[in-house]
Amino acid sequence: MSVTWQDVQAASDRIAGVAHRTPVLTSTTVDDRTGGQLFFKAENYQRMGAFKFRGAYNAISQFTPAQMQTGVIAFSSGNHAQAIALAAQLLGTKATIVMPQDAPPNKLAATRGYGAEVVLYDRYSQDREAIGDRIAAEQGGTVIPPYDHPHIIAGQGTAIKELIEEVGELDIVITSLGGGGLLAGTAIATHALCPAASIFGVEPAAGNDGQRSFRSGEIVTIQTPKTIADGAQTLHLGNITFPIIQEHVTDIVTATDDEILDAMRFLAYRMKTVVEPTGALPLAAIFNGQIDVRGKRVGIILSGGNVSDKILAIN
Ligand SMILES: *Cc1c(COP(=O)(O)O)cnc(C)c1O
Repeated sequence: MSVTWQDVQAASDRIAGVAHRTPVLTSTTVDDRTGGQLFFKAENYQRMGAFKFRGAYNAISQFTPAQMQTGVIAFSSGNHAQAIALAAQLLGTKATIVMPQDAPPNKLAATRGYGAEVVLYDRYSQDREAIGDRIAAEQGGTVIPPYDHPHIIAGQGTAIKELIEEVGELDIVITSLGGGGLLAGTAIATHALCPAASIFGVEPAAGNDGQRSFRSGEIVTIQTPKTIADGAQTLHLGNITFPIIQEHVTDIVTATDDEILDAMRFLAYRMKTVVEPTGALPLAAIFNGQIDVRGKRVGIILSGGNVSDKILAIN
């Protein structure tokens, strides 16, 4: 059950006219500082504020009539929840979302605002997948996981497809990395459109399971990492995302919370764009020297813009 370039193209057709075709940002200041030519795909301006709308809409729009009757269930630290809630509302089906108690309040409120029913759990002591499965068993409904699903991966691949179509050939492509849906989809599309490009994933230094998995060849599972990058607090890569990442990705690197804040400040003050901590990971990894972009044309997915009040009061 892998994902092909044709799947990304089909996803692109499904979301056309529903998802925003987000703008591409450039900045001579960032190019001067890094020595590269950087193109930022501003998914912080996507519907519900992150690329996750792409995968969610692609997945639910392939539901059978029976699945539409019973609705969709998701477990998510935030953006996938909002994405599923909004896509379900637009497509006319019911959404039940299992969310951690300590999810950013704005993300909880937004999810409820899209008409979803929210079920809370403690992410440090309870297993969200078991809760999602129990709800599915009790009331029916289709669980759509946040990253390890072919329709999610294909949908997430549409952002880089749009970027490459707009700006042309890239030498390097960089995304943030949680469970790997974004990176896997990006890798498939990049491999099809720019086969020579290097592809990097960036995850929080506090939770570098992806890097360890990539380097050891086996999926490594960690405890919930303590990091401000809440969109990348995943415990492990997926059974579908990992082999795709192994096949196409050049390397997985990391950034610390301080480096993330530095990149967020740069994006806010210099580029006038608000990005959530997870969305700033790629730029943080360029600034901290883990990805050398000198002389390269670089595509970066600014994955989301849903910042909590606490983080936006930039310390
Ligand atoms: C979910 C998310 C990610 C990570 O995506 P994965 O597919 O889990 O790797 C990155 N950035 C933001 C803003 C997200 O919401």
